[in-house]
Amino acid sequence: MRRQPQTCIFVLGGKMAAAEPDMEPASAPCSEFLNFSAKDTAARWLTAVDLQQDVFRHLAVYVPRILCLGPTGVNSREEQREELACQLLLLAPLEWLLLGEEPAAGLARLQENNQPSPLCGHVFKVGEPTYSCRECAADPTCVLCMQCFLGSVHKDHRYRMTTSGGGGFCDCGDSEAWKKGPYCQKHTPTDTSRDTEEDPVAQLPADVVARCFSIFSIMLRYAVDLLTWDQEDELPAGLKPPDRADTFYCMLFNDEVHTYEQVIYTLQKAVNCSQKEAVSFATTVDREGRKSVRYGDFQFCEQAKSIIVRNTGRQSKPLRVQVMHSSVVAHQCFALKTLTWLGQIIQYSDGLRRILCQVGLQQGPEGENSSLVDRLMLNDSKMWKGARNIYHQLLMNSLLMDLEYKKIFAIQFAKNYERLQSDYVTDDHDREFSITDLSVQMFTVPSLARMLMVEQNLMSTIIRTFVDHLRHRDLQGRFQFDRYTAQQAFKFGRVQSLIGDLKYVLISRPSEWTNQLRLKFLEGLDAFLELLKCMQGMDPVVRQVGQHIEMEPEWEAAFTLQMKLTPIISMIQEWCCTDEHVLIEAYRRCLSALSQCHSGLPDGEQPISLSLAGHCVETFRYQVSQEKVSIHLPVCRLLAGLHVLLSRTEVASRVPEQLPLGELSPPLLIELPLRCLVLCAQVHAGMWRRNGFSLINQIYYYHNVKCRVEMFDKDINMLQVGASMMDPNHFLMIVMSRFELFHIFSSADVRKRYREANKDVVQQNNTLIEEMLHLIIMVIGERYVSGVGQVAPFDEVRREIIHQLSIRRMAHSELVKALPENGNKETGLERVIDSVASFKEPGVTGRGLYELRPEWNKHFNLYFHHYSRADQSKAEEAQRKLRRQNGEDTALPPPPLPPLSSLFASLVNLLQCDMLLAIEGAVLQWAVEPSGGGWTESMLQRVLHLVGMALLEEQQQLENSSIDDDIVTFNYTCKITRPGESPSPSGSVLALLESLQNAPHLEVHKDMITWILKMVTNIKTMRERTSATSSYTMSPGAGQEETVRDRDKAERKRKAEMARLRREKIMAQMSEMQKHFINENKELFQQSLEELEASTSTAAHSSSPGLVPTCVSQVCVGPRRVGGADQRQLVTCILCQEEQEVKGHGRAMVLAAFVQRSTVLSKNRHRSLPNPERYDPVFQHPDLSLGIYTASCGHIMHATCWQRYFEAVQVKEQRRQQRLRGHTSYDVENGEFLCPLCECLSNTVIPLLPSTPSPDNSVDHPSLEAWINTTNQQIATLHSAYRRQTDGAAEEAEPEAPEGFRVDFTPQSSFSSSISEMINTFSLSTYKVTLKLNPNDADPRVPVLSWFTCAYTIQSIVCVFVERLLMDEDKPLFGSLPCRQDDCLSSLTRFSSACWTAAPLKTTHTHFFRLFKALVPDSQDENTPCVIDIDMLHLLVYTVLSYSSVKSLDQCGRSGVDSAHLHILHLIIVAHMVQILLTSTTEDVCMDQDSEGSEEEELTCRLYDTLRKHLGSALPEVTSGWQLWHCVKAAILPFLRAAALFFHYLNSTAPPADLLVAGPGQWEALCSYLSLPCNLLQVYQSQHTLMELLIHRWCCHPGVKRSLQGGGVIVRFPRESNRLIDLPEDYSVLIYQASSFTCPRSGGDKSRAPTLCLVCGAMLCSQSYCCQTEVDGEDVGACTAHTFTCGAGLGLFLRVRESQVLFVAGKSKGCFYPPPYLDNYGETDQGLKRGNPLHLCRERYRKIERLWRQHGIAEVIGHAQEANHTLITIDWQHL
Ligand SMILES: [Zn+2]
Ligand SMILES: [Zn+2]
Ligand SMILES: [Zn+2]
Ligand SMILES: [Zn+2]
Ligand SMILES: [Zn+2]
Ligand SMILES: [Zn+2]
Ligand SMILES: [Zn+2]
Repeated sequence: MRRQPQTCIFVLGGKMAAAEPDMEPASAPCSEFLNFSAKDTAARWLTAVDLQQDVFRHLAVYVPRILCLGPTGVNSREEQREELACQLLLLAPLEWLLLGEEPAAGLARLQENNQPSPLCGHVFKVGEPTYSCRECAADPTCVLCMQCFLGSVHKDHRYRMTTSGGGGFCDCGDSEAWKKGPYCQKHTPTDTSRDTEEDPVAQLPADVVARCFSIFSIMLRYAVDLLTWDQEDELPAGLKPPDRADTFYCMLFNDEVHTYEQVIYTLQKAVNCSQKEAVSFATTVDREGRKSVRYGDFQFCEQAKSIIVRNTGRQSKPLRVQVMHSSVVAHQCFALKTLTWLGQIIQYSDGLRRILCQVGLQQGPEGENSSLVDRLMLNDSKMWKGARNIYHQLLMNSLLMDLEYKKIFAIQFAKNYERLQSDYVTDDHDREFSITDLSVQMFTVPSLARMLMVEQNLMSTIIRTFVDHLRHRDLQGRFQFDRYTAQQAFKFGRVQSLIGDLKYVLISRPSEWTNQLRLKFLEGLDAFLELLKCMQGMDPVVRQVGQHIEMEPEWEAAFTLQMKLTPIISMIQEWCCTDEHVLIEAYRRCLSALSQCHSGLPDGEQPISLSLAGHCVETFRYQVSQEKVSIHLPVCRLLAGLHVLLSRTEVASRVPEQLPLGELSPPLLIELPLRCLVLCAQVHAGMWRRNGFSLINQIYYYHNVKCRVEMFDKDINMLQVGASMMDPNHFLMIVMSRFELFHIFSSADVRKRYREANKDVVQQNNTLIEEMLHLIIMVIGERYVSGVGQVAPFDEVRREIIHQLSIRRMAHSELVKALPENGNKETGLERVIDSVASFKEPGVTGRGLYELRPEWNKHFNLYFHHYSRADQSKAEEAQRKLRRQNGEDTALPPPPLPPLSSLFASLVNLLQCDMLLAIEGAVLQWAVEPSGGGWTESMLQRVLHLVGMALLEEQQQLENSSIDDDIVTFNYTCKITRPGESPSPSGSVLALLESLQNAPHLEVHKDMITWILKMVTNIKTMRERTSATSSYTMSPGAGQEETVRDRDKAERKRKAEMARLRREKIMAQMSEMQKHFINENKELFQQSLEELEASTSTAAHSSSPGLVPTCVSQVCVGPRRVGGADQRQLVTCILCQEEQEVKGHGRAMVLAAFVQRSTVLSKNRHRSLPNPERYDPVFQHPDLSLGIYTASCGHIMHATCWQRYFEAVQVKEQRRQQRLRGHTSYDVENGEFLCPLCECLSNTVIPLLPSTPSPDNSVDHPSLEAWINTTNQQIATLHSAYRRQTDGAAEEAEPEAPEGFRVDFTPQSSFSSSISEMINTFSLSTYKVTLKLNPNDADPRVPVLSWFTCAYTIQSIVCVFVERLLMDEDKPLFGSLPCRQDDCLSSLTRFSSACWTAAPLKTTHTHFFRLFKALVPDSQDENTPCVIDIDMLHLLVYTVLSYSSVKSLDQCGRSGVDSAHLHILHLIIVAHMVQILLTSTTEDVCMDQDSEGSEEEELTCRLYDTLRKHLGSALPEVTSGWQLWHCVKAAILPFLRAAALFFHYLNSTAPPADLLVAGPGQWEALCSYLSLPCNLLQVYQSQHTLMELLIHRWCCHPGVKRSLQGGGVIVRFPRESNRLIDLPEDYSVLIYQASSFTCPRSGGDKSRAPTLCLVCGAMLCSQSYCCQTEVDGEDVGACTAHTFTCGAGLGLFLRVRESQVLFVAGKSKGCFYPPPYLDNYGETDQGLKRGNPLHLCRERYRKIERLWRQHGIAEVIGHAQEANHTLITIDWQHL
């Protein structure tokens, strides 16, 4: 089926099944089966006269009964039973017969005696990792399996790792595949003396061989007959079932036309199945190629068929459906099983394998192509996918594993090549399902490929087949792609695979040539030239004038072809240059092909003669701007390539008479490439604007690294070829003429007239002149091709790299992308890179970069031919900057060039020819007169470059000539001193340069001109010196020149210094301004999460006055607590910039905040999300399986300003939704918005509240017992009051209310209405996020959830802090939080303490009653969880915060709320210690302590004894008090930290100095801050009696015993913080794991997108239909579904095949994140495209982990989606 972009790839279902429930199942195998004896049957067959007949009779009876089970659905039990029956009844007798003994024993014996071939032959599964050695593999298709790779020498080489697309096998043991190390340890042949030619069949007993022959022939023939069987109702003779029933299957076949959706829809209609079943059918059809969708009588099936055909046949060819008799289907099923069986049997013995090969390839009676294998191959495209897969597999296991038969098979394959390919082209299945895909297994073996080429003429066959399939031609016989229909395009797409085959054949060059090979190669070359001739001149373009073109012509097909052929063309050249004879012959043939193309070229074109400056040349009139021109010139370009090769091999100089050089007409050779280059120039000049984008694209690809080697580069080469054979003046005249510039240089008059012409024309011509000059520079200067210049391929690569790195530093992958690849996908980069560049390691972000070493800068050439214009200007800028930094001049003179090869030697004459001098003179002359637009700086710059090149050339020649040598012929300096001739009338070039030197308008070029003039002086001196008789005297001029240079340098330095000072002054001013700005926008600079980690918030922050340490002992809780200095708190609204004081009765100020569910702290990922309706949040289990985390970016607004802002966002969103559908990165409907300042994702606001007033020191501090009593009384009073309210009348005696406690009192609100409203807003958002319910004020859980997020957020932050301590980041708890977290916690805590005011008093009271009861239980109450099952921090926070509501009714004012807080804290400390002792002690660690037990230890022992007294043997015996105390101390520390943070923010008490610095004494400081004794046990001891009572009650809770005896998860303290799962160091380990992962839903099929949950380690089958689940009424993919069970809607995954981290939040949000795996170049490989080995980067993984722990994932997603809007359109929920 055709796959929709987002449709997922489907997987396996069951066997034959049908949807019709009415039919009775066919008779199930009965007892008769049980009595069957395989041994006896085999014995009977052994004596049979006609074995085939007997076997067939057996099959005829049993096959339909076993494999025709009727309407069984997808049922694995059924399947297993079927499998078993097949094995026992059908295959076992065959095995008995074959082996003559018990099969298991016989096979074992076979295997034992087998001498295995050294080939590994492991067939790859989809997604399995494969390894190829970049150094040793013969070609990139040679791969190893993981086991072999790890045991091979290549693991220490440079290797490539990829994932297999399935099929193909491990090449370990194939000596042709590896230049070195062909065997891994396991497959190294042990017996080296073993003769590989020995026939393995000879090793087997003769009787086995005989039986094997007959069984294999019978069974293979049976399988082939049935798989190629085309009758629906009849079976081959001998297989007719004894009793034929009217049972049919309606069989649906796969095609690539219909989509999943169409098929599913149709099936639902046609066979009345559910959507699920239809999906399952469709999935199986797609995977297996066919599937029965209905079972029943003929009529019944026919009916379904007609519906399907009718429904799918409307727009396209209908789906293929056949109604097949059940016995036919059964036999076909068994035929497949037979093939699988054969494949398994031959694994045991090479002898059996060879027999099967013989049987398979034996010519049948019908002669040619009648062997069984031939029949399979030739019917390949008629078979369904499943059948093809199985027999391909068998071919791989048999023929391709046997070296001798591989050859025979290869010949057969090559013979049928054309037919097989044609079948494939018309078939619509992917190539991986076609027999043609096996070509890679044979053609890449060099010896086979060579053999096939010689014996089967394979190269020509492939090319001719290819050309045959492209029939669409124009009148000249050229390919015509521009009017391709969809169908032709489709066909074209498929035909391209032939080029792949051609590549395989050519990939390894022959080391030796035979005459036969020469002959066949040249024959292949002829065919190839025919192909190129069809391309030469295709897709011509004509310049559009006036109107814009109406339709963009199709251009991609032609370029696709060119791109695919590029490596082939290069390979053919490589082949040619290994043999002189072949090269010369190829050159001759290519030349004649070209002249055929050229025939008629000058005809019809008017000959003209051009003359200028005394030179005259004949050419013809042709204008690119008016006539047809084509970019495709492959024949010319191949010839250019061959010419360069000739030059390289020096055949030309040795045996010039063999070369047809005389037949060359240089002007004709350069004509077409020149036109193409002129076309590019004109496009640049904007002359072809009306031809649209298609032309722009073509020009782009012409220069692109993928094509340029065989396009642009070769055109330059061709011009070099032509120019080297022509008079340089003539060459330049033709060039000028084709550029349509001849008239400009031929007479000064024209120039003048033209200057007055139209501005556009002037500009166009200017660009054309620039382009032409550039072209001349390239023709003379591009010598880095071996053959043109005297260079090695090494130099060529190095030069590319130097020029890439001259633009900027680059990563390894960028460099690779900028370099052309050879057939082995290598660029040669590695051999060069370290010599020219130094590597800079990446940090935690970014990637590793290469930087050019400074000594290579002098090789920089501004006119490097592979620079685009953009590259060029970037490089120029970078180089000038570099030179300025080094205090050098900014001239960028041409680099020294390598010498030319002899064939090209005359190119240098271009530099000093009259024509070029005339051009130079003209441009310089124009530059002298700056007025008017007649010239450009680029033009001048190019001329200066050319002058420089000429001078360098002269200098080089002078240097190389020895003293005795006669005069150097190259005499540019002399020529430029001569006055100019006619077209450039005044002054010599030199004189012009001198006059330009000081021209004010040429400041930029001054350095270059100076450089040139100096060169001229130098050369003159050199000439004088050489001509002088005494050449050894130092020329005085040189010394003088030195001083001149020195003076220059000094002057430059002074100027640079002044510039520096000026810059510094400006910088100082700037930074002053910046500082100001930063101060004003402090928050702006503290947004990023990176900073969140790093920030230590040292700067005093206005809104947290609590952080100023004081010397007084600070206590944050209890009657002795120190209040926050009652400072006025001023904040500024980010929206209106107004300042505002935070006051209870003032205008509300709010903080943007984001509330999210969290499972980061969860200790129990198996607990499912709570049911929102029944969830009771009052008690949190210590496993913290779900939390609510609140974060804020710290930006403050007026509530009213925020409301206005949010309304505006809503309106905007509505309008946007009306205009265009789609999402934003935030979900407005769910209250989400982006912080107006930092764009941080937010979904609510927290109101800012004033700090709690300082405690009243006049009140009493009642004892714990007294307080408990009072509280109990208060509770009782309230209880009865409430009961009265609900029940109406007072029935019982009213309990006595404590003094001053007034039930009916209504406390006055201390908040303004706007603040109350905001309190409500935040409460309700928390409610909504936690429960996913609509906000409901009346729900009593509203305040609890606010306390919940307060407690949870504090816990998370402590957790992150502890983690950081472990990482040795020595930071104190207080003072190390980033401002925004500090602000958030402070406002969150204050808010939580006030949120009870927004709820009815009764609600909070009721919560308090329950909480209090957990601490002070009165009776057995199952509704209150036991002490083990309560998280104590949550209990503390809730109790403290809910107490305020009770306290508010107490009007006596005798005791303060602070006493109560301290009592609550004490109670909970003891309860927590009990909890710890119950759950977290272990007996096994027993350390001897030397010292006497301290008081703490003694008391801990006493407490533990008490517990043991209550609970007995449920607790282990621990005798070491030291151990107990340390256990308690470590376990309670996180609680103390969290409690300290809580009270710190609640009461705004500054922490003591000791807590602000890291170091020892933290425990003491913490205890004292919390008003606790350092010996915590004293809390227990000082109230011994009361505590004993409470402990007794806690322990008596039935839940305690239950938990201790193993009911449920016991959380141990201290809770370790969660980590992401461990990842393997080597990425391929992950790939390997994922490759064996099968989809959990579809019966063992491979998952196409295995994805790993980084939180829990689950592997998921992502992005597929099979694993979609319904969540809240919507189908979501496996990842999204998993986030709801594992991360409360948020997830972190690693997509293994893509090497990509995936973050998802909810159903609609997600983003990709760089994976923590890097290659050796410090780069990630997202998409696994490059295949460099990847290793885990722990720092990056830790960074991801930190992000998760800090609840930063949602924010990252938000920012990513804001930054990249395409992320929003991805359907994240389907992943
Ligand atoms: Zn292997
Ligand atoms: Zn191996
Ligand atoms: Zn290697
Ligand atoms: Zn405001
Ligand atoms: Zn913000
Ligand atoms: Zn998970
Ligand atoms: Zn799946």
